[in-house]
Amino acid sequence: MKDRSKKKGKQMLTVQQFRASFGDEQQCGEQLSRQRWPCGFACPRCGGPSRGYMAVRQVHECAACGYQCSVTAGTIFHKTRTPLASWFWAIYRMSQDKKGISAMQLAKEVGVSYPTAWLMLHKIRKAMSDRDQGYRLSGLVEVDEGYVGGEEHGEGRRGRGKPGVRSKSVVAVAVERRGAGKPGQKPVPGFAALEVIPDAAAATVEKFLTGKVRAGSHILSDGWRGYRRLKQKGFEHTATAISTQDEPAHSLFPWVHITLSNLKRFLLGTHHKVESKHLPHYVAEFNYRLNRRSMEADLMTRLLRACIGAQTITYKQLIAMPDLA
Ligand SMILES: [Zn+2]
Repeated sequence: MKDRSKKKGKQMLTVQQFRASFGDEQQCGEQLSRQRWPCGFACPRCGGPSRGYMAVRQVHECAACGYQCSVTAGTIFHKTRTPLASWFWAIYRMSQDKKGISAMQLAKEVGVSYPTAWLMLHKIRKAMSDRDQGYRLSGLVEVDEGYVGGEEHGEGRRGRGKPGVRSKSVVAVAVERRGAGKPGQKPVPGFAALEVIPDAAAATVEKFLTGKVRAGSHILSDGWRGYRRLKQKGFEHTATAISTQDEPAHSLFPWVHITLSNLKRFLLGTHHKVESKHLPHYVAEFNYRLNRRSMEADLMTRLLRACIGAQTITYKQLIAMPDLA
């Protein structure tokens, strides 16, 4: 009990605290080392201790055998020429700000070129996406899809199979509905899963759900034909047919619709226009932050850990991604 109340009192990392902990290359490298070797550095060749962290080369030198071990190998910072302090600032901004940060803004804040900032943010998005792989929703789960991007106005919610929506991408959304059915308690949203899917066909939607929702969970949908075989796929399923166009869907499935409209606001507000081939990464970023909205005090450390645990992605690999439109 005591721990919980203490934790609740912890605030987000302030800019002053950030500067005090991650202000220069030495500090950032040492932070990285502490995360990678929580029990202290041990040489991978001989197990020896470090002679000290050398910020210029981003290595620990073994005091016993002289081996120089990179602190960035196997992380998203691998082979970076950008100072670690700039990376840590990007991670700070990506983790703390609900709206994320645009490449244009990051370029200005840390003094790098736009392409460098763009690549940094995509590497961080890759870490966010890797971190959330394998997480499954459970319990009562609202499901729907929506159209994102493109030139048309309006929600495009009922656009399934409609001609003229080619420029939009389909995003499938599932959100846990918690606390429903308990007397005197209003349902609240739990974890969410979002994914860009190639179309809204039954097989595609089923693949999304089996990947993101635990078998046996109870799915709530609008009864569209894409959801008809969910019982055969191991889910409980309640379909609520929607009689008129838009309004009832919002009241029946409030969380998926709020989530979709927040996603659209994030894409437009922070990034203005997102290429459809990169949309999955932005959706992963949005999803990562959404599921950690109540973890304010630890956001920076959590994202840093995700970045340390993720293999990097190169500019070439990013550019080679197939276009989903
Ligand atoms: Zn050694």
